[in-house]
Amino acid sequence: MPEQNKMEKIVSLCKRRGFIFPDSEIYGGLANAWDYGPYGVELKNNIAAAWWKRFVRTRDDMVGLDSAIITNPKVWEASGHVANFNDPLVDCLKCKARHRGDKLLEEKIGVAEAAKIPFEQVGRKLAELKITCPSCGAASWTEARKFNLLFETNIGVVADAKNKAYLRGETAQGIFINFKNIVDTMRKKLPFGVAQIGKAFRNEITPGNFIYRTREFEQMEIEYFIEPPKQDEWKKPFEEWQAEIKKFFKDDLGIGEEHLRWRRHEDDERSFYSKDTYDVEYDFPSFGWGELMGFAYRTDYDLKQHIKYSGADLSFTGDDGKKFVPHVIEPSFGLTRTLLSVLCEAYREEDVKGEIRIVLKFRKNIAPVKIAVFPLLKNKPELVKKAREIYDRLKLACACEFDDNGNIGKRYRRQDEIGTPYCVTVDFDSLDKGDVTVRDRDTMEQERVEIDKLEGYFAEKFK
Ligand SMILES: [Zn+2]
Repeated sequence: MPEQNKMEKIVSLCKRRGFIFPDSEIYGGLANAWDYGPYGVELKNNIAAAWWKRFVRTRDDMVGLDSAIITNPKVWEASGHVANFNDPLVDCLKCKARHRGDKLLEEKIGVAEAAKIPFEQVGRKLAELKITCPSCGAASWTEARKFNLLFETNIGVVADAKNKAYLRGETAQGIFINFKNIVDTMRKKLPFGVAQIGKAFRNEITPGNFIYRTREFEQMEIEYFIEPPKQDEWKKPFEEWQAEIKKFFKDDLGIGEEHLRWRRHEDDERSFYSKDTYDVEYDFPSFGWGELMGFAYRTDYDLKQHIKYSGADLSFTGDDGKKFVPHVIEPSFGLTRTLLSVLCEAYREEDVKGEIRIVLKFRKNIAPVKIAVFPLLKNKPELVKKAREIYDRLKLACACEFDDNGNIGKRYRRQDEIGTPYCVTVDFDSLDKGDVTVRDRDTMEQERVEIDKLEGYFAEKFK
């Protein structure tokens, strides 16, 4: 199927089946804002739970955190977000579209040359080089203007500079500002890490591509603290993290290795304090390679910034009593982006006896609904009663759905489209012989399973 088409089909399926809705649709919507529907939120929670299980719950060297979205604004001065998020924005004089001037220059003359052009000359340089507007093709530009990517807000009723605050631009800073609290309470030895999942906000200039780039998004971030390394000692934990991240995408989410790549940042692309940085990218059907996560060795930059701005002692005392500032390895995942890659990976159209079957082949453990239970006929009370009994038992162990709408074929079609791995049908034989039909989403094969053995059967399937 044409790749552009595939993304449109996924967007439409997400709306039709209750995964993702355009936000505030009854008011005409809000561009690039999306709401996660009943199946979307289950899928998102399942991805987050798989991440938390792998990177927090099953490790002795990791702890979790949930920090505030609105913090003291000094956090963002220390982190560099208030300064660094001042991108040179230019407006096209013809169509008024707003673009990142530095990005347009980079495309034409490369990252290194573009970096040499001072902020106030960006607009002029674009015109000089006859760089055209991606929206309309004209080549006349305003001067570059500053635009803070952090969302500003005011604490309290009066809006003035004194009570200005920001919605967090990333979850990572919440970890650094709690470093001392965690060291003081958790009795951890180095190396150890802190993980956080939550919303972050950036006033992006060019949002788009469905849920790929949105102004409100979710992150899953880890700061892994290590002793200041001698020479290349950081490479060992760095490579161990790389291996775990690969397992997460492949084993937990079922993303094919051929659709993932580790793109190493060039020297001029990397932050000055970072020793090594990668983007893990997914090959999206409509727009190609896009970042799912960043992975960097950030040295002791972040903690030192907060020491400088707060005056607090964020050092760690080693076994020998010596104090030092730990270094950090940062795996920073985009949760909502990862969800889009999971949808793209799962989407299939199959020819079944001349008809197209649309199916989301999620890895079974992250499917929003694990088992659907049907009575063969909805107007036979004894079948409905038995199916309800089975449903009430199975739902204690995993996400189940009871469905008696329409005929069986229609119910299968619906469950295929939301990616339910197993459907259980209760028929007249179930009443006599005490077994049911279990249909497998991927093979469409059906087998009879004794009702009393269903729990054990599914525990095996979802282990
Ligand atoms: Zn234009």
